[in-house]
Amino acid sequence: MTLIVQKYGGTSVGTLERIRAVAERVSASRAQGNDVVVVVSAMAGETNRLLGLGKELSKRPSEREMDSLVATGEQVSAALLAIALSERGVPARSLVGHQTRIFTDGVYTKARIRTIDDAPFRSTINAGAVPVVAGFQGVDAEGNITTLGRGGSDTTGVAIAAALKADVCEIYTDVDGIFTTDPNICKEARKLDRITFEEMLELASLGAKVLQIRSVEIAMKYGIPIHLRSSFSDSQGTIVGAEDKSLESVVVTGVACDKNDVKVTMRELPDKPGIVARVFGSLADNNISVDMIIQTEPRGGKADLTFTVTHSDLARTKDVTERVAREIGAGEVKLHDDVAKVSIVGAGMRSHSGVAAKMFRMLADQKINIQAITTSEIRVSCLIDKKEADQAVRTLHNGFGLG
Ligand code: ASP
Ligand code: MG
Repeated sequence: MTLIVQKYGGTSVGTLERIRAVAERVSASRAQGNDVVVVVSAMAGETNRLLGLGKELSKRPSEREMDSLVATGEQVSAALLAIALSERGVPARSLVGHQTRIFTDGVYTKARIRTIDDAPFRSTINAGAVPVVAGFQGVDAEGNITTLGRGGSDTTGVAIAAALKADVCEIYTDVDGIFTTDPNICKEARKLDRITFEEMLELASLGAKVLQIRSVEIAMKYGIPIHLRSSFSDSQGTIVGAEDKSLESVVVTGVACDKNDVKVTMRELPDKPGIVARVFGSLADNNISVDMIIQTEPRGGKADLTFTVTHSDLARTKDVTERVAREIGAGEVKLHDDVAKVSIVGAGMRSHSGVAAKMFRMLADQKINIQAITTSEIRVSCLIDKKEADQAVRTLHNGFGLG
């Protein structure tokens, strides 16, 4: 018997008509002899609507209450889908946060899963019903409702697939799969049949917002293939899986663009041991992740520090860096959100040289200035002016022959 976890995103359950279509698909998969566990997102737009309500009442609402608030979005779609399935003659039971026993840490709005008990899913399946799980949420050790960060239902889906040792986690969305780049930016973008976990991790973390990055990390760790596909068609999507060593990997698989970065510059930091540790220690204590980092050559005992954070951490980053700057006697802090990070990704970069140089040359030929660079074994990223981001994506996509 094949066990499939099917996760449906917001647009796939966006209306009652869509929910009926999902029920149809779940029913068809069961009729083929599969055991199915379903995970749902909130109906499209619902999470933003709920967040908006909280923010109308307060500029900085309590994160605990915001998690309780937004978790209701997924509860609604889970219950509706369970009703639609029963109506089709498929027994189903919705399961919300505490019932799924997905335990998380206590970091509201971006909690991480600690443990999952497979019992609630197994017993529901054994009773002949389809578990319909409210994604995105868990409970902490004290029983508070937590959420897993925007897009967190993907992580719920893959984590449940891992806990149940499912054969595949199908993630249904409104796009046909993973593309070589964003088709809205570049018309020549192509759908990929396969992509490796590592490549997907790089693309997801770079703002190819199809899958939440945590979900890919979990899939890779537990070897669960993800089939990312559209709920609006029957066509095959993209399989995210382990690298196929029998194939020669292409040098560049995709071009990603992230417009959610903020560049932070801290001026005139005292040039002595412990200062940089102090800055990043304070950011880490506030759960702010830092990406690109550059420190200038010290002059007159002072150095400038530039780094990037994501836009959702902007307010907290401002507070933390301004406070630390005062404490250590540094100069002014500036935050710029008119930047974008453009990246090329490909498993084949491991065995090819000169790829970065080629990228820099292509950008230079377009007179695009590079403000910061980072690399990994299979990625090169450049921070550039946001206004030039789309042009950069098209240039690189074309230059690396992805069209
Ligand atoms: N509803 C949540 C969000 O919009 C979680 C998800 O859809 O995966 O971010
Ligand atoms: Mg999503």
